[in-house]
Amino acid sequence: MTSNHELFQRALRLMPGGVNSPVRAFKSVGGEPFFTARADGAYLWDVEGTRYIDYVGSWGPMIVGHNHPRVREAVERAVRDGLSFGTPSPAEVTMAETIVRLVPSVEMVRMVNSGTEATMSAIRLARGATGRSKIVKFEGCYHGHGDSFLVKAGSGALTFGVPTSPGVPKAAADLTLTLPYNDLAAAEALFAEHGGDIAGLIIEPVAGNMNCIPPKDGYLAGLRELCTRHGALLIFDEVMTGFRVALGGAQAHYGVTPDLTTFGKVIGGGMPVGAYGGRRALMEQVAPAGPVYQAGTLSGNPVAMAAGLAMLELIQAPGFHDALAAKTRLLCDGLQAIADAEGVPFSTNRVGGMFGLFFTREKVESYAQATAADTALFNRFFHGMLKRGVYLAPSAFEAGFLSGAHGEQDVADTLEAARGALREAKA
Ligand code: PLP
Repeated sequence: MTSNHELFQRALRLMPGGVNSPVRAFKSVGGEPFFTARADGAYLWDVEGTRYIDYVGSWGPMIVGHNHPRVREAVERAVRDGLSFGTPSPAEVTMAETIVRLVPSVEMVRMVNSGTEATMSAIRLARGATGRSKIVKFEGCYHGHGDSFLVKAGSGALTFGVPTSPGVPKAAADLTLTLPYNDLAAAEALFAEHGGDIAGLIIEPVAGNMNCIPPKDGYLAGLRELCTRHGALLIFDEVMTGFRVALGGAQAHYGVTPDLTTFGKVIGGGMPVGAYGGRRALMEQVAPAGPVYQAGTLSGNPVAMAAGLAMLELIQAPGFHDALAAKTRLLCDGLQAIADAEGVPFSTNRVGGMFGLFFTREKVESYAQATAADTALFNRFFHGMLKRGVYLAPSAFEAGFLSGAHGEQDVADTLEAARGALREAKA
């Protein structure tokens, strides 16, 4: 039998860090990743046959659980007709109709192949449509690995961003202004100084890449007002929240209408898919209708569309998101009760089927608070859970996800594991 360790040793010689996306390598929590052989429902099985209750869900897409028969069958049917056509195909039209119907602000949409492509394209469109060049993002928010987004705040309150990765030109970073999340006064001050140069402000409407941090009451509405006042576009990056925190995404949940929205994860049903969309007048500026260029050999791929459409069909079942939110609450409340009983400083955040666990007594509302939580304790807890057959995201700064396939027994088993893992981790 191939072991996880042996595979990782082979992988390390062949791929940077042994993986095709950094967080999979367990660098943050230490140790070695397991290699998944198959997945079904709420579970992953590694190549050694160990089963894990999965709270990562392929980083968000698997909202109905892994290997759902309806999604699998839709893919199997699509595959029989060919893998890629390079012409328009009917499923793309159905997908566009579905997104436009479900997401309040979207009148037209363009399919791409990843969340990264979606956000890169959305800011190009924002720049093209406004004739301005600066964008605003938030510290701790992740929008994929485009140059404009791998930027953090420089020193000083209102300075231009600095690259967070070699290879990102300073000239590109200079065009990205960064702000603290959930701080409307900081955004007002930034717009007062730079408002006339700002093409768009991009935000995760529920932050999911600094663990899970929901927006404060009125925060998104405040940003909406600020963007409108200064003629900048408000871009909701709903790659993670789209179709997850509510059927219509965070914009439906909070009742705030962005100009542009980016999608990924759930709309692909597990296939590599992204999309961006918005008001008709804006989207008609995208090529070939308009002058803002953006293209993709495999965009709107028929197999990916089939997977995504099957997934979107399933989550439209009445009560789907309520049930997901109820299970997430059960999990978070249960973990809180165990941590309290064990005397471990702990708090949780959750919106719909998305949650965050923090080893701190504070209610976490900012990036600074998230980074101040006890990550060493999280790392020990993570490994304690893994040993007990529960797979949490292998980083203290990632949100967790439940799926329609997680049952109450899975949550109960997770809580049982957490009791042991916490006792061990706090020692
Ligand atoms: N935007 C958000 C909010 C994300 O969480 C991610 C990925 O995790 C991305 C964009 C990038 O998507 P992808 O990894 O598909 O390029």
